[in-house]
Amino acid sequence: MTRCGYGGKEIYSEWAWRSLSEWQALSARSGLPIFHPTGVLWVHTQPSELVQASARVLSRKNIPFTLLQADELRRRFPVMRVANDEAGFLEPAGGALMARRAVQSLASELKANGVTFLSGEVSPIRREQGENGALAAVTTKSGERIDADQFVFACGPWLDRICPDAMANRLFVTRQEVFFFSVDAGATGALPIWADLPFYGFPSLEGRGFKVANDTHGAPANPDTVDRRASAAGEEEARAFLARRFPSLAKAPLSEMRVCQYENSSNGDLVIDRHPGLDNVWVVGCGSGHGFKHGPAVGSHIAELVAGTAKPRDPFLIASKLRQQDRGVQ
Ligand SMILES: Cc1cc2nc3c(=O)[nH]c(=O)nc-3n(C[C@H](O)[C@H](O)[C@H](O)COP(=O)(O)OP(=O)(O)OC[C@H]3O[C@@H](n4cnc5c(N)ncnc54)[C@H](O)[C@@H]3O)c2cc1C
Repeated sequence: MTRCGYGGKEIYSEWAWRSLSEWQALSARSGLPIFHPTGVLWVHTQPSELVQASARVLSRKNIPFTLLQADELRRRFPVMRVANDEAGFLEPAGGALMARRAVQSLASELKANGVTFLSGEVSPIRREQGENGALAAVTTKSGERIDADQFVFACGPWLDRICPDAMANRLFVTRQEVFFFSVDAGATGALPIWADLPFYGFPSLEGRGFKVANDTHGAPANPDTVDRRASAAGEEEARAFLARRFPSLAKAPLSEMRVCQYENSSNGDLVIDRHPGLDNVWVVGCGSGHGFKHGPAVGSHIAELVAGTAKPRDPFLIASKLRQQDRGVQ
């Protein structure tokens, strides 16, 4: 999902908002729905510090949002059960990004514009490989050598293995289960994407099913060997949540289950920084379950770093990432 409410973490509100217009433009250029403008609704018990801080930041930045009281929530989204002390924080400009389609469309657009794509598994880099503090080349597992003036490593949950001097013990990969339930088209009316922490989910998009996931960090996971079968306990928990919040959907048949991984930093902030021992290497990642939406803003910041027109900045510095998890970005 893409949304701008981040409590007081203003940089993410700003980057999500800047990125949204890029996603919309890519969606329009590709002719495929890369962005579904569903809106995003945070359901919360009042008062919520996270929502109050989000409202302050979004007001300052002229990013649209509406506060909906319980009666209004029930009227607009009758599929939801809402208690009297609950309310909604609705971001009408938010929505769903079709991540895989977005990356593929962008890649084919870049290729058409002359960017060369090479495919291969790059071997880990070490500080000792540097000549005068710079990396001359990387090698792939199949023995190919790739020379470059600058390198950007954006290796998701493998970042600590590829750049151990920068990221060892600073990346916390967790196993996350996602469930899709088969619901009739129209059964959820105009329901937007919703968050009701720790759960969040999507109305059925492109017929895929009603998505429910728990955002709580799961067990530590190895992205190569993690068990990709979702658990019966996870499904039960999702159904118990549905029974409370969306009772008419609690018995819907499962249409799909996925096991993904979050690649978390200690506190949830992204990492975008220079490698500590190699001046021409940039280390980028730690999406921490919220990183995709910021892609365009992250990309433009990296381009400035590589060009030398910007400097690495907080809160993205490697040195500010601890070796113990203490989640601060929601
Ligand atoms: C269940 C779930 C829900 C999420 N929900 C949201 C959301 O609602 N909104 C949001 O904004 N974000 C969300 N995220 C987070 C988001 O998906 C990630 O932060 C983002 O996709 C990370 O992108 P990345 O490019 O850094 O890493 P990845 O997408 O993991 O890409 C890393 C790439 O590096 C390549 N690679 C690795 N090792 C090597 C090597 N040795 N040589 C060459 N290539 C290599 C891999 O093949 C891969 O292509 C969610 C994540 C999960 C798991």
